[in-house]
Amino acid sequence: MKLALRLLSILPILCACATALPQAPALPQAPRSIDFGDIGRWKSTPPAPFFPQTTYDSKVPTVEQLLGRPAGAFTAHHHEILAGLRKLEASSKRLTVETIGRTHEGRELVVAVIASEANRAKLPAIRAAIQRLADPRGISTEEGERLVKETPAIAWLAYSIHGDEMSGTDASLAVAYHYAAGTSADVTEVLDQVVIVLDPCMNPDGRERILSMLEQSAGYTTNVDRDGMHRGRWPYGRGNHYLYDMNRDWSFGTQPETRARWAAFRAWMPQLLVDAHEMGAMDTFLVYPATDPFTPTFPAYTKRWWQEYTADLSKEFDAQGWSYYTREWADSWYPGYSDAWATFQGACGILYEQARFVGTAIRRLSGEVVTYREGVHRQALGSVANTATLAKNRELALREYLAAKRQAIDPATPGNERMYVLATGRHPEREQRFVELLVRQGIEVKRAAAAFQVSEARGPMHTPATAREFPAGTLVVSTRQPLSAYVKALLDFDPRYDQGSLARERKELETKGVPKSYDVTAWTPTLGWDLDAYWCEHADIAGNTIESLTPASNPRVVAAPDAAAPIYGWIVDGQDDSAVRFAAQAMELGLNVHLCNEPFRNAGRSFARWSLLVRRHENGVDAGARVAEAATRANAVAYATSGARSPDEGPDLGGRHFELLAHARIAVLSNTPVDNDSFGHVWHALDVELGVPVTLADAQSFRSLDLRRYEVLVLADGSLGAWVSTHAEELREWTRAGGTLIALGGAAAAVCNPEAQLTQARLRGDVVSELDSYVRAARRARVAGTIEPNPSVVFDAQAVQEPAAAPKKDESGETPEEREARLRVYAPSGVLLRGEVLEDHWLSAGCRAELPVYYDGSNAIYAKDSVRTAVRLAEGARLRLGGLLWPEARERLENASWCTVERVGNGQVILFASAPTFRGWFRGPLRVFHNAVVYGPGAGANPVRD
Ligand SMILES: [Zn+2]
Repeated sequence: MKLALRLLSILPILCACATALPQAPALPQAPRSIDFGDIGRWKSTPPAPFFPQTTYDSKVPTVEQLLGRPAGAFTAHHHEILAGLRKLEASSKRLTVETIGRTHEGRELVVAVIASEANRAKLPAIRAAIQRLADPRGISTEEGERLVKETPAIAWLAYSIHGDEMSGTDASLAVAYHYAAGTSADVTEVLDQVVIVLDPCMNPDGRERILSMLEQSAGYTTNVDRDGMHRGRWPYGRGNHYLYDMNRDWSFGTQPETRARWAAFRAWMPQLLVDAHEMGAMDTFLVYPATDPFTPTFPAYTKRWWQEYTADLSKEFDAQGWSYYTREWADSWYPGYSDAWATFQGACGILYEQARFVGTAIRRLSGEVVTYREGVHRQALGSVANTATLAKNRELALREYLAAKRQAIDPATPGNERMYVLATGRHPEREQRFVELLVRQGIEVKRAAAAFQVSEARGPMHTPATAREFPAGTLVVSTRQPLSAYVKALLDFDPRYDQGSLARERKELETKGVPKSYDVTAWTPTLGWDLDAYWCEHADIAGNTIESLTPASNPRVVAAPDAAAPIYGWIVDGQDDSAVRFAAQAMELGLNVHLCNEPFRNAGRSFARWSLLVRRHENGVDAGARVAEAATRANAVAYATSGARSPDEGPDLGGRHFELLAHARIAVLSNTPVDNDSFGHVWHALDVELGVPVTLADAQSFRSLDLRRYEVLVLADGSLGAWVSTHAEELREWTRAGGTLIALGGAAAAVCNPEAQLTQARLRGDVVSELDSYVRAARRARVAGTIEPNPSVVFDAQAVQEPAAAPKKDESGETPEEREARLRVYAPSGVLLRGEVLEDHWLSAGCRAELPVYYDGSNAIYAKDSVRTAVRLAEGARLRLGGLLWPEARERLENASWCTVERVGNGQVILFASAPTFRGWFRGPLRVFHNAVVYGPGAGANPVRD
């Protein structure tokens, strides 16, 4: 009131003054625009050209004309790069832009094919010739030699698969211009020998995400400080839409970008692949040769070619006076990095890591100020140097390429005396996906026309090899095929470090306390997908090469045997992965779904334990239509039944074995401190794999979320200790009221904090003084229900034998805490371990007694009493299935829990010690996660229902 009165009293005076004021002076100049990098600086002084010796066709627009600024002045948007390439296509006779796919966010993925005019006229013939070299079956020596002499080699230049490693994509336009417009011999002679396929922007969604952050944090005044918001904020720009690291996706193809690239790459089968990345701003430039360990079947000729390529690149960089280095890090163990995957396809894969200047200028520790354009220049010069090396050595490169492919199909090649055999039928959907996974990468899969026997079949679980008969329809992957080395690398059950690499890794851990290994040490999909596969001696199995396992006709609803009778309900077998998706979709459609805790027979067939039932009388008149819709969405089969009575001793359909599930509204915690990578995997596992709505709950404003509206809350991996402490009370209340709290990896560790009072499960470090009791509990649980009661013990009071002795005492004098701290250093970087499954628990639907699980990090969760361990890690020598597991890690992890479940009031807490959703790679553990989310609220909790 007071303020209003005062305003009224001065208003007339203000108005009078305003009319009396002299005219305002004109603004001195138009407003400056924000300085995105070095654009302003280069308005007056053009920067030095990247390739000063090269002459260019003036009819082709320069990068500066294409972008309206010099190359590398600032990070270009994806659409600017695409528009630039299309303008080059319109003005140059050498360049063609091809669309190869779309990202999740709908952005176009392209490659630019650059060839001399002469080569451009015969591109289909060149591609056909390269395909002949890539699969030389049936090619004579003379024909092979003719192709080697006459065919241009293919160089694949790929940029910025990590969206926030941006200089590569900016370099791509400069490289495209260089080859599209260059008229001097350094360009034309290269194009006589090489066709270039340029993949300019491998991760447009990630690039655009980080670029918007860079633009929003730019100011009027140039700031060369290396820190600040220009590095981006959660979830950063590395991953694609679902935050997947696509440089780890090549062997698993979980993302559309990867699948598009598989097809495009295999259409060209290049001899060189450049994979341009960035690393920390204080670093310089890393280029291959890579460091050890190498995948056991890593092609030796690639290691030799690295020397050739980098010798030429070094000369170019030395001429500029630039820093660079090789071999210090980035190992070649996992075969699914861009460069490693390309190498296993037959190319020489080369990695670049350029120091990261995030679209601006940065002052380094030395005081040197470096610009983004300098980083772009290094990327461009590296690409051009490597392409020139391929051109110079074209014939030799193709000859060795052909020789390697001939070796791949040769029965005498080491390892080619084996074949991989997959018995089908236990997991139809998984097996279909597995065939697709192999075939799309170019691996040939055959389906046996008749039954066959092998004398020694070795399974993935370290069981002794045995003679075995396989039925007709069994899948066979021969090692005698063009991708032989890759078949062995991807499908080997237990690839092992060589002695030197093992010693170096151990030394790093003992002396520095950090691993040298760059990423996971195990990956085999046979284990991660829990498939029934074997390695056997090679045999020529009659059968057809297949493209897919998908059956030709796929009825979604199967009529009841007694089709004339009224329908009682519909049953979906619980074994296949489509079952859990069916349950989720059916509940989305409002159907009541029951989960049966025993196997049973009905509708003329057997159903596995944890099969699903929809009763007609519980679901209204359109139940049948909704069941059909859910089955279609889920790719599942629903069997109609006309009666509830069991034909044998199994459960009747109307009884208590059939638990009513509860529809889950799902929230997933997002934003810092959740690990963005792990969050993305969880999001993808629910949104894409299950197809259910997911609410992304902001960890930074969590209290504004009404948790009561959700039945499930998922905490992905991350350093959530402080966050869980802050929100422990809300989480406790919500869980007790019926919520299902699911925590993964670091979040599970945070939930185990005794002060949070969320679970009785504990981190090993918190219970080191009472480990014996946990180990005894684990051993009791392991044998529970398996020992026949001895009547003499029961009725005649004979002495009871304890199931297992307590662990040996440590004699070293080391305290338990000291020992725990020492052992933790040897945490696995990514291994496959033997999990023991609690088969009478709903979390185990679709699993059998043992489940290979993925494990990384140092969380060891111990559980007893009220906490049930749904999947426990096996003991001692049985624990490791694949990857590098040091004895210290084995000691910490044996008998620990991989997945626990604990009833808390009306709700429950489910913990996964290591994320089951890791990169979407491992479908075995993923199933347990899906069971937790979909079956959890009804089967393990008591949420509020209407
Ligand atoms: Zn990278």
